[in-house]
Amino acid sequence: MPSLLLLLHFLHFPLLSFSRPYPNETIPGQNKLLLTVSPNGTIGDWRSDLVDTDSGSNVSGLSELKLYLHRFGYLQNGATSNFTDVFDEEFKSAISLYQSNLGLRVTGRLDSQTLSQISSPRCGVRDSVDGVVTKYAYFSGRPRWARPSPITLTYALSPTDTLDYISRKDTEAAVRRAFDRWAQVIPIRFSRAEDYEEADVKLGFYSGDHGDGEPFDGVLGVLAHAFSPESGKLHLDAAERWSVDFGGEDSKVAVDLESVVTHEIGHVLGLGHSSVREAVMYPSLSPRTRKADLTVDDVEGVQVLYGSNPNFKMSSLPESDTSSASSSCALVGPVLAMIIVVLIHTIS
Ligand SMILES: [Zn+2]
Ligand SMILES: [Zn+2]
Repeated sequence: MPSLLLLLHFLHFPLLSFSRPYPNETIPGQNKLLLTVSPNGTIGDWRSDLVDTDSGSNVSGLSELKLYLHRFGYLQNGATSNFTDVFDEEFKSAISLYQSNLGLRVTGRLDSQTLSQISSPRCGVRDSVDGVVTKYAYFSGRPRWARPSPITLTYALSPTDTLDYISRKDTEAAVRRAFDRWAQVIPIRFSRAEDYEEADVKLGFYSGDHGDGEPFDGVLGVLAHAFSPESGKLHLDAAERWSVDFGGEDSKVAVDLESVVTHEIGHVLGLGHSSVREAVMYPSLSPRTRKADLTVDDVEGVQVLYGSNPNFKMSSLPESDTSSASSSCALVGPVLAMIIVVLIHTIS
């Protein structure tokens, strides 16, 4: 099995090490984490008793948060069966690293901002656990598609593992736009393959356990995952309410397909997760939110791997994004505004 990656958050130099994005295990009680959301989008109670939990506390549910952190690459030492509800020093360190890698204020406490972040839907690829990510990152060993230039990668949408409520034409158009974004900044051409089996990059929608050891989890929670080069696997959770047009979609838990595919293609190319909140490669994405335009951070990261498309000029990126990518690392933003939206998993 190809090594997946962890993404990570991306790495910067020096490279952080990633492990497989998903552990070969499911997380007991994961669907009770912090908040719940039913398949129709009804949001459950916020676990207010967890807010501002600090060292020495013993609060019911903390073990679930430990499992969550473990799942995304933190708290890797020790067996998950030993996780307790005690807020110990190891947990505090993990929270601090999580806050740092997610671009949050580092407090080592379960403040509201951190709980909101944990409750946000996200990519299934793990974050870096070996160090602080300050902007873009790569998988361990910095794998890339090592082919003679000019590189052409073919892609195809599964003929069978697809959606029945969005037309194939619209789905493929969203996927095409996502690939085009990356092709504009690096010297790689993406071509749609007629034969799915022959494609370098294979996209599909899957539910639950779909055979790669990284089962999906239902509505929200983990939205998608992809594997590091040169696997080419890009999987989307079929349980999400995917959308290519929020204008025609009423669901509160609708997720923008193009944004997520753009993010996952970043993994396919070798990028991990970025700590820059505005970056496409940041690990989480709120429902009904579109974030598909590459930022300076995304572009700089992928160009380290492949160089620049000769026709691309960094100045062509939106004005607001042409400042130094690293300067936005500290831009935490009013995450609390997301609390309402913060969903986590399905009650089912
Ligand atoms: Zn990701
Ligand atoms: Zn998968």
